This record gives sequence, C-alpha cells and structure tokens, in this order.
Amino acid sequence: MNEYDSHLVESQLVSMGASIVDNMDAADFVLLNTCAVRGKPVEKVKSVLGQLRLEKKRRPLTVGMMGCLAQLEEGQQIARKFEVDILLGPGAILDLPAALESNERFWSLHFRDELHDFIPPPPQGKLQAHLTIMRGCDHRCTYCIVPTTRGPQVSRHPDHILKELDSLLGAGVQEVTLLGQNVNSYGIDQGQRIPGIPSFAELLRMVGSSGIKRIKFTTSHPMNFTEDVVQAMAETPAVCEFIHLPVQSGSSRVLKRMAREYNREKYLEHIACIKKWMPDAVLFTDIIVGFPGETEEDFQETLSLYDEVGYDSAYMFIYSARPGTPSYKHFEDLPREVKTERLMRLIERQKEWAMRRNSRFVGRDVEVLLRGDAFNPDFLEGHTRGQHATIVPKVPGMDKAGIYTVRVEQVTPHQFNAKFLDAQGHTLEPILAPTPEAALLSSPLPMA
Ligand code: SAH
Ligand code: SF4
Repeated sequence: MNEYDSHLVESQLVSMGASIVDNMDAADFVLLNTCAVRGKPVEKVKSVLGQLRLEKKRRPLTVGMMGCLAQLEEGQQIARKFEVDILLGPGAILDLPAALESNERFWSLHFRDELHDFIPPPPQGKLQAHLTIMRGCDHRCTYCIVPTTRGPQVSRHPDHILKELDSLLGAGVQEVTLLGQNVNSYGIDQGQRIPGIPSFAELLRMVGSSGIKRIKFTTSHPMNFTEDVVQAMAETPAVCEFIHLPVQSGSSRVLKRMAREYNREKYLEHIACIKKWMPDAVLFTDIIVGFPGETEEDFQETLSLYDEVGYDSAYMFIYSARPGTPSYKHFEDLPREVKTERLMRLIERQKEWAMRRNSRFVGRDVEVLLRGDAFNPDFLEGHTRGQHATIVPKVPGMDKAGIYTVRVEQVTPHQFNAKFLDAQGHTLEPILAPTPEAALLSSPLPMA
C-alpha cells in the first residue's frame, strides 16, 4: 500500500517538474513514507530524520513525512523534534503540491475525498503494478493501529478502478495486485452495501475480463471470506491461484483477545473451501507471535495449525505493542526473550514447510513473470503465479523481461531455479554455466 502511495506522490512530483534521485545527498526535498504497524519501522524513521536534521544545517533541504506515522500523535511529536517541514497523513497526499509551494511549515492530516478518484499515471517500463481498490479498515483488531491511521473503510468506485487498470494495460503492465486492508469486504463500507459497487467476487471477474494477464490481491481477511470469491478465482483464468489469508494465531483463545472475529475452526473451514476449488493453490499467511497472554499451549496451537494447513509461506511478526491500540492499553507485554524464541521456532516450521511445498514444483513447467536482471546479470528474476521468487539463466534471444513458461529444476525454501524451454519443451542451457550461488536473490522472505 505504501509502495502504491509512493508512486502516487512520485507522479505528482514529476508532474511539477521535479526529477527523482536515488541518493538523499543529491536531493533538495526528501519525503519519508512511513509505516506505524510495528515499533521497528518507527525507530528507523527517527534515525533517518536525525541524519536529515543534521543535513539541513549544512544546506537548504526540505524534509517531509507521509504515511501512517504522520497521522499519529507519536509521529507528530517526532516531526516536531526533528524539524520536519511537511507532514501529510495517508489521506492528505494530494496536498503535496500546495505543501511545496508554501513557504511555511505545512501539516495536513485530513482525508481528501478526491484521493479515491485520482488516477496516477502508469509506471513506466514495469510489468507489475499495484492498484488500490479501497482505503481504510472497519475492523478493530486489538493490536492494530491501521484503523486509527487510515480511518474507516471506503471502497473505490469500480469506474475509477477500471480506468486506472486501462491506463496500466496501455503502459504494458501484465500483472496487477489489487490492494485493500480487507478486499473481501469491498463494496460493504461500515456494514452497508454501497449501491453501484459490485462485490469483490464480481470485481475479480470484471478485472479478469480486461485483458490483464495476471491478477493477485492482498489482503483477504478471514472474517469476510466467502466461497463466491474462491469460485471467482477458480473460474477467472487471469486470477492467480495464490491466496494470502492472515490467520495471526492458531489459538481460538488468542484470536478472541485479538478481536479477529473468527476462530480456528472457522479459519480451517475457509482453507478447506480454498482447497476444494483450487487443490494446488499457494497459501500464504501472517502470524503474530507473543501476543499478550499467549501461553506455550496457545503457541503450540499456532504450530499445529501451520501443519494442518501446510502453508507455502508466512510473514511472521513478533507482537509489537503500539500506543493507541486496545492491547497496548489493557494487556501486559510478554518478555522479549519469550517472543523471540517463539519466532525462531516458527521460522523453522515455516522453512520446513516452504521446502516441502516448493519441492512439489520440481520438474514442473510454471508461468513466471520475469521483471529483469537478477543480482547476477546472467540471470533474470521474477515471480511465479504463486509468488515464488524465481531465477532463470539467460539464453540467446531470451534475455528480456516478460511472461514465460519455464521448467523448475531446483528449489530452496526461498527460491526456484528454473530454465527456459524450446518449442519442443526441452530445457535451454545457458552458454556460460553461472554458479548458482552467484545467482541467489539478495533478499529472502521478509520477517519481523
Ligand atoms: N489488514 C490485514 C493486515 C494488515 S497489517 C489483515 O487484517 O489481514 C499486516 C500485518 O501486520 C498483519 O497481518 C499482522 O500480522 C501484522 N501486525 C499488525 N499489527 C501488528 C502489531 N502490533 N505487532 C505485530 N504485528 C502486527
Ligand atoms: Fe489491522 Fe485488523 Fe484492520 Fe487488518 S483487519 S488492518 S489487522 S484492524
């Protein structure tokens, strides 16, 4: 979501005549897009703002902060301390041109309705893009700051979504990821179905008939998960057989304290439904370890749920007590060592399952979207429909970004090593045999 908003802001800057530079030292204006979901990114923001405050003493420099942290009192205190000139809440990013024209400190935290209708210019030369279908969140998970920073859910009108999609298609985009905190409740804001807005299942079918090659979406909240979405996925060829369904915990007791609005059994019913319609679907989840009051038995239930589902992968987080959330106010945090030790055990489980699940692809031909050169330029890198990071050695005539069918030769828990195929379906050997170590992608799975 932040990447999407960064793109939106970047396009405003470019239309004002600015050019984007990679290095902060070369910039006249630095705008930090921030996350406030966990404490760690907040610390990172403080450290960068500290450097920028020093830099401001040496030369003319404008410093801005946007994103969720900007919306919080915590962020505003940080902004005051580090002499931030421009502060834009997640709903106020269209105020950027006004902020830059102003000669005074410019802080805007109000939501501008035009944001829903705003269609940013498409990214240039990219095969993948994000597309926001809704903003905000109507849930109240007790650990989560998002409803405070991003406000209530507002679904974007399908006309704007389809218009933006058209512009992406025109620019050569082949894979789009539909974004929302809870895409399954698209069209139902604050419990009310909005007239003229389709359901998420209908939207998937609409986007699927646009000519786009691949559709992914995130995030799907189990509470509003319905079979018609899985059916639409299974029946719409462009929708990838990949689903990210955050469970957070395998213990119904913990889920209740988190106010997730489903229990273990209900969640497992959703998994069974996905497996019924798409037996080979790739399943990802989010898990928080060390939620206040989580006992060893509760954690064992998370491990057993992991085994019961057999996830392809997971984003795993240590619980971070966020000021302003109900769990921060009412519950006591567990000791750091307990949380870290549980995370380590969970990571082990995740790796075992990732290896087991990835192994089923060895020898199979899969569709991969290759984005461009890997870290080692003898390889191309990209993702499968199931979001597996994949590298393929270049062969003459096949060295460009695009969607290809490749054969998976080897897997690790983090990566597929694959080869291009000729017209007869034989693998094409690279001229130079580069060492697989040299081809490894630089970043494995993101974690806490
Ligand atoms: N709307 C999505 C999640 C968005 S936040 C959903 O409900 O599924 C992304 C992830 O960050 C969450 O799924 C959760 O695993 C993690 N997260 C959110 N708040 C957190 C906190 N206080 N501490 C640790 N992890 C957190
Ligand atoms: Fe946060 Fe829960 Fe909303 Fe997801 S559904 S953004 S975890 S409050």
